[in-house]
Amino acid sequence: MIYKGSCHCNRVQFQIETDDLFQDLYRCNCSLCKKKSIVMKAVHRDHFFLIRGRDYLGSYKWNKNIAEHFFCRFCGVYTHHKRRRYPEQMVSNFACLDGMELPPAEEIATVDGASHD
Ligand SMILES: [Zn+2]
Repeated sequence: MIYKGSCHCNRVQFQIETDDLFQDLYRCNCSLCKKKSIVMKAVHRDHFFLIRGRDYLGSYKWNKNIAEHFFCRFCGVYTHHKRRRYPEQMVSNFACLDGMELPPAEEIATVDGASHD
């Protein structure tokens, strides 16, 4: 299945391809994700497609400068990031997917990113 997503102003649009959209949704307790308070869905990077908005994407790197967190420079919404631990994966902001309601909090795992060195 293909799911479309976008930032708030629609300048950045992407698609992910997955057969298990609600499987393995997670939050992360690292210092960055905690402040963003986002629910994430990881897919293989070959299943993530940036449709438009490349020119509007800003990115943020910190710590080891491996993970790269992308956001719309116009509206400020974080849309996706490249993972540090699983560089073959791209993670999207679940709440950016069209028409998605977040599942109940207890159904969303927390990854212990705070303990990664
Ligand atoms: Zn935007």
